[in-house]
This record gives sequence, structure tokens and C-alpha cells, in this order.
Amino acid sequence: MGNMARNDASPPSDFIRVIVDEDLRTHRHQGRVATRFPPEPNGYPHIGHAKSICLNFGIAAQYGGTCNLRMDDTDPSGESMEYVESIIRDVKWLGFDWQDRLYYASDYYEKLYQYAMRLIRVGKAYVCDLSADEIREYRGTLTEPGRESPYRNRSSEENLALFERMRAGEFEDGARVLRAKIDMTSPNITMRDPVMYRIKKENHYRTGEKWCIYPMYDFAHCLSDSIEGITHSICTLEFENNRPLYDWFLKELNVEPRPQQIEFARLNLSFTVLSKRKLIELVEKGVVSGWDDPQMPTLSGMRRRGYSPEAIRNFCERIGVSKNDSLIDMALLENCVREDLNERAQRVLAVLRPLRVVIDNYPEGEVEEFDCPYHPKNPEMGSRKVPFSRVLYIEQEDFLENPPKKFFRLAMGREVRLRYGYFIRCVGVVKNANRGEVSEVHCTYDPETRSGFAPDGRKVDATIHWVSAAHSVPAEVRLYDRLFRIADSLGEGPDFMEYLNKKSLETLGSCRVEPSLSHAAPGDRFQFERLGYFCVDSADDKDKVLIFNRTVTLRDAWARIAEKGDDR
Ligand code: ATP
Ligand code: MG
Repeated sequence: MGNMARNDASPPSDFIRVIVDEDLRTHRHQGRVATRFPPEPNGYPHIGHAKSICLNFGIAAQYGGTCNLRMDDTDPSGESMEYVESIIRDVKWLGFDWQDRLYYASDYYEKLYQYAMRLIRVGKAYVCDLSADEIREYRGTLTEPGRESPYRNRSSEENLALFERMRAGEFEDGARVLRAKIDMTSPNITMRDPVMYRIKKENHYRTGEKWCIYPMYDFAHCLSDSIEGITHSICTLEFENNRPLYDWFLKELNVEPRPQQIEFARLNLSFTVLSKRKLIELVEKGVVSGWDDPQMPTLSGMRRRGYSPEAIRNFCERIGVSKNDSLIDMALLENCVREDLNERAQRVLAVLRPLRVVIDNYPEGEVEEFDCPYHPKNPEMGSRKVPFSRVLYIEQEDFLENPPKKFFRLAMGREVRLRYGYFIRCVGVVKNANRGEVSEVHCTYDPETRSGFAPDGRKVDATIHWVSAAHSVPAEVRLYDRLFRIADSLGEGPDFMEYLNKKSLETLGSCRVEPSLSHAAPGDRFQFERLGYFCVDSADDKDKVLIFNRTVTLRDAWARIAEKGDDR
């Protein structure tokens, strides 16, 4: 294969890149590579769209070609400027650049209308008065040929006149359609005189009331591609049967250039849904707080959750491109996110469910500042000062009054190491008068262990995280779990809502984080030691308290720190 044109840093090859290589070798499109990402602005982009974005923009970049961003806005119902803006924002955020090539299919309406008139003139399209139900009935089935419409043999003159009157708004919605005249007996149902235009007296978010007839996807898409000089029109597998129709329009209209449609398998991801219709339902029924709810598989949700564009691009590269439908495990995406954050997230201390600890032998009013590195392996990430004082908070689950054998953290008489600090030993507890719960733990510290080690060589079994009570900052933390309870088959039935995970969000309202985080800005990402990766929420209603979204859990942080003991 001619790999000459490929850049070295390019992703591994796949069947689409093999086709492009071959086309370049045979000079099929005059040696050009031009792709496009063509979303319909009727929803926010999701991770499935990211796969298509990375593929289209990735191929263009790799072969020195271009990739257009085209709003495929040929249906007034459900399209809006809000969605256009979300698409623009998210493609940019992912790191791709369409330069000055932002296009709208709605800008081609006049051209498309002229193309339709041309087909009518050469006897390849006709106005049909059958109702939608009748058209369906006449179409036949996979095993039965279709029947010709009684309006199929209207003269070109009559068709031209009727089509002009359709445009002029003389007929009601559904009264008439324009159909391609192909073959009612074709084994491919798509080719049985498909509808090209329908009447829809609705306001379009860009063209307003100017049009009341709208082109169907199959007619508009291939011609939009041709108008833009697209060479490789990459789409998902469900359009495989439409390819002959795509080619038919181009051939009958004799337009140049002739783009080539190539289908690949769409991304399916476990424990979530990737269908705009279903995502809209989640938003409209208030199951989530909006399109950018951190539980959504949308790019805006993932951004707010703390996923980086690099992690998403890396995921898209890893899953690759193929012709076979498959279900990708959500864990693979989470792993890409974790790997990325592991490299770049600052390590900080936060306590999600605080338990008060008083160090009896530490002088009241005294404060020490520990210099703590932001990353154990990247000293260039610097360090910050973390205050230590007599009263601390630790995690409730790091103390047990009656510990089982395998519990190595704090318990009566037990000694542990404080992260970046001293050994402390539990010497007593205070209990809540009513419920008998431990509300405060009393400890002593060993001043000789400031280095994290005891001069006499004695060891501890655990290192726990903490914050200083007086210096720490209050925060709210939102923990996310899977949005759905089942991994697979969410796509199939209309009953996908029944599989929602009712406990997908847990909000912790009385967390405490180290004081350096009071300067954290929306979108900043951190590792809370031993707890996971967290991102400062970027919704606009946040004049009150700091809010962190848990991006992803740590794989098994506790095991690692406990095992090494001196992992600092
Ligand atoms: P609908 O189901 O409403 O048609 P869609 O998800 O196909 O929505 P489009 O706006 O038509 O949305 O998609 C834009 C582009 O993204 C198309 O080329 C489509 O093939 C591609 N795409 C959509 N979903 C996925 C997915 N899950 N995986 C890969 N590509 C996708
Ligand atoms: Mg679509």
C-alpha cells in the first residue's frame, strides 16, 4: 500500500485509511482528501460524535487535506441555534479546527431546489399525492416488490408546476411529496422511489418562513458533499443501504466531483445511551440537570465532569474504526481518563466525610506548614504549603471503634501516619450523647516522626489523609456512578428509562478541602489523595460553595498506599 502520504505521528491504519491510501495512489480524487463532520443541530454532541469528529478531522490532518464542519440542518423540527453553538464549542474543545469552512446545508436550499427541478425535467422525479401511509403501503417489503404510484407518470410540465406550487405554499403538510423515479421493484427498498422533498410549514431556525418544503437527508447529503468538494463522505453503518441512492443522485445529475460514501460502525458504550432522541428524553423529563449534566455521555457533560479532550481523543484512537458493530466497555473510557489525569492532576488533600481529630499533646494555637509536592513523579509541578494544627479532620471510614482483624487504619490504641506528617496514636473517643456514634477522636502525636518515619524504626500499617479543621475550606462533592443499571441493550426498547440507576448521583455537602483549593477555578482537575480525581464544577450558579464533581475513581489507591507505607 502506498503509505507515502502519511505522516509518521498518525494513528494506526484502519480500513478507511487503507481506502484513502489507495485513492491517493491511483489519483482518484485528483490526489485530494476532503472530509466533513455533518451533525444535525438537534442535540448536543456526545462521545459517539467524538468518534466521528476524530475520524474525519484526523484523516484530513494526516493526509494534508481539509475537514469541513457542516450543520446538516434540513429539518426545521428540533433544530436550533443553541445546538449549533454547542457543536461549535465542543468540536473546538476537542482540539479541531475547520478554519473558515463552517457550512450549513440550509445555505444550499436554493441550489438543492434547482437540482430537484433538473431531475424533474429529465423525468427522474415526480410529485406524488399519496399520503405517507399509502406510500408506505405501496413500498412493499423485503420479500414483496413495491407498486408504482398512480402519480408516477405525470408529465414533466405538470410536475414542475406542482413542485413550484409546493414551494409557494399552496398545499398543506403531507398533501404532496417529490419523489425520485427509480425502481419500485428494486431489492433495496431505499431505491423504491424515495421521497426527496416534503412540505413542512414550520419555522426554520435559520431560514425562518422562507421555505415550506424541505429536502430529505438522502437527497441533501450527497449534493451538499458534492457542492463542498468532499472526497470521502464518512458515515455510520446504518447508511449502507442508502449508498446506491447517494450514488444515483450524483450520477443522474451528472455533478462533479463525486464524493465516495464510506460507512463505519458507530460507537456503542456500555451503561449509557448514545441516541439524541433518548438523550433529549433524559433532559426533558428532568432525569438529568441538562445536556451538560456530568452524568451525560455528551461532550459538555464529560467536560464538566473533568474529562480532558486529550483523554477523549486517546479513547477514540484506541477503539479504532471497523465495519462491525460492537459494545465498548465504559471502563475503557474511564481508563483513558484516569491515565491522562494520573500524569497531570495535582495531588491534594480533601476529606469527604469529616471526623474531628484532636491531638491532645499538640500545642493549642500552633500551626506548622508542610511543604507538599503536587505530584510524586513530576517535581516540576511544584509544591504548596499545607497547614497542620491541633484539630484535624480525617475520613470517617479511616477510624473504627471495633475494628475487624484486617483493618489497619486508626482505632483505639492504634498508630497511623498522617500523609506528609507525623505518626498519631488514638487515645480516646467522644461519643454523640444521643446516638452513641463517635463524634471526635483524641490522639497524641510523636514529634520525632515529622519526617514520616520513627527514629526507633517502628512501623505503622497505614497512611491516612487529613486537613486542618481551622484552615480547611468547605466544599460540596458530587459522586457519580453509572447512569444505567445494565450494560447492554439500552438502545433497543422504548423502555430504556426503566433501567436508570436511581443512585447514580450522591451529593456530599460537608466536605473539607485543603486551603490551597480556595483558589481553584471552574474546570480545574485534581487528584484527592486516596479518593479519586475531581474537577471544579463549571455551572454558573456558584457564588456559594466550592463544588467538585468526581471525574473518575482511583483504581485501587488504598491498596497501593497501605502496601508501600512510605509512598511519598
Ligand atoms: P440521529 O440518530 O438523530 O440521526 P445522529 O447521532 O446520527 O442522530 P447526527 O447529527 O446525524 O446524529 O450525527 C453526525 C455525525 O456523527 C454523523 O455522520 C453520524 O454518522 C455520526 N455519529 C452519530 N452517532 C455516532 C456514534 N455513536 N458513533 C460514531 N459516529 C456517530
Ligand atoms: Mg443522523
